[in-house]
Amino acid sequence: MSFMDLFSPKSCIVCGEEGAIGLCPTCRKRLDALYDPRPFRCSGGNGYADAMYALFHYDIPFSRSFILDLKTNGYRDSVALFESYYERAMTEKDFPSDFEWVTFCPRSMRARYARGFDQSLLLAQAASSASGKPMEELLYRSGSPRAQHTLSAAARRENVKDTFYGSRNLDGANILLIDDVVTTGATASEAARALKKSGAMRVFVLCLAH
Ligand SMILES: [Zn+2]
Repeated sequence: MSFMDLFSPKSCIVCGEEGAIGLCPTCRKRLDALYDPRPFRCSGGNGYADAMYALFHYDIPFSRSFILDLKTNGYRDSVALFESYYERAMTEKDFPSDFEWVTFCPRSMRARYARGFDQSLLLAQAASSASGKPMEELLYRSGSPRAQHTLSAAARRENVKDTFYGSRNLDGANILLIDDVVTTGATASEAARALKKSGAMRVFVLCLAH
């Protein structure tokens, strides 16, 4: 193993097969089969978001473990991979195209520091180059709410209430809001609410998986 290999592991981030960067051909094929771009509604409604779209199903074990792997070290290698899926999604007839900015739901500062990066920022950059629309950090996040996955749906809504703030006046613009996984939609709705408070007209949420 060379010194550089320590920084760019050459094994599949899902199955660990040696020699692959990002995904091996077998896992790539399996992920391709799970690609199912579609609008969805959260069980409690979409809140302040005008529409929500997902690229993959989160309830299939392979895609779930894949998305979870993305949240750890393998993530950076996967951004180019997701750019190709975003490019495909932008051409789907049901997907929104009338937006001026791409932005994302920021993690808490604690999560960002713990991981060293914000996965949704990387995804938003990929969606920006796929759509040709500029990416801006339009949201700040205050406080350190508890991890959402430990909470009930009602507690999730309370936990994220008022944690997002807009960074600038959006003057009637439509926004594409990128997130990695949307479950109850509480976080995405709160982010959409903050964007609308800043003057956004419509907010479309595009997540990797639901
Ligand atoms: Zn693999």
